[in-house]
Amino acid sequence: SVVVVGSMNVDLIASVKRLPAAGETVAAASLEKRFGGKGANQALAAARHGALVTLIGCLGDDPDGRDYRNHLRREGINCSAVNTVKGGTGNAFIAVDAKGENQIIVIPGANAALTAPALKMQRSRIEVAKALLIQLEVPLETVVESIKLANGRDVPVVLNPSPIHPDFPWGEVAVTVLIVNSGEAQQIFGADAEDMAEKVDEWKTWLGQKKIRTLIVTRGEKSTLVLTEAGLKKVAAHKVKAVDTVGAGDTFAGAFTTHLAEGAPLLECVRWANAAGALATLKVGAQEGIPHRGDVQSALNA
Ligand code: ADP
Repeated sequence: SVVVVGSMNVDLIASVKRLPAAGETVAAASLEKRFGGKGANQALAAARHGALVTLIGCLGDDPDGRDYRNHLRREGINCSAVNTVKGGTGNAFIAVDAKGENQIIVIPGANAALTAPALKMQRSRIEVAKALLIQLEVPLETVVESIKLANGRDVPVVLNPSPIHPDFPWGEVAVTVLIVNSGEAQQIFGADAEDMAEKVDEWKTWLGQKKIRTLIVTRGEKSTLVLTEAGLKKVAAHKVKAVDTVGAGDTFAGAFTTHLAEGAPLLECVRWANAAGALATLKVGAQEGIPHRGDVQSALNA
């Protein structure tokens, strides 16, 4: 199975003409409530890709928490390691203006209760996994602990280090596959991934120092960069007319990890993930647009 350690948030999305300045009040045309959080988004992408998914995380003991659990169950995700804790489920308040620019306030809520000791209670689930998939929307110490548990049993670790945390202890834990977008690559390596082809040896050295086996840089509608000890490969993007790119990165990560857990070759995993990420851009919303494996297969065959 694929084990995801991560966040669940209820997103409240307000559509505004323009974003408010400090001290200002603006009226929204509409308010929408959606299931989100990078952990759940990626878990759902893996589940719709046919993986047996166990999600490790925390929900609040409020109606949102109950609704979220039912939603995950309907998607076939194993929720026996989703704890209900006292207090509110995590939220994201999102304002989107007419141009698609946004402002986001995240209230971790129950996600903050996924502490390293709480995670350790689930260690056996990680130790028997075919792959561990994680992001940085839960406490950093929990992320590091989960990677250490996976490292101890040679379980492949796929890390999507988003949102970037300045204190991540690169080099202290082994990451099998790091999935980042261009901006995140810049923040972690202090270099422009666009120049990677001319500086492959330098990038390889950084991967060695940070104990990263494979680096994947997603670049929206451009090809995906895949750097390993064997060198740099580019995997062509899947051509679509994107409507809303929210959730594309999470879909990529979930689809990629599913194929990795199945034992598919690296570049084949990326090819599937590119197609899945592209299809995710055809619908508004993060989870709404996540495709099922059959749709991705059809797109690849077309
Ligand atoms: P993030 O959302 O994290 O910034 P990207 O924008 O790089 O990540 O998107 C992740 C992946 O989703 C891309 O590598 C690609 O496979 C797919 N994708 C995103 N936008 C597009 C697009 N406009 N056309 C085709 N594929 C896309």
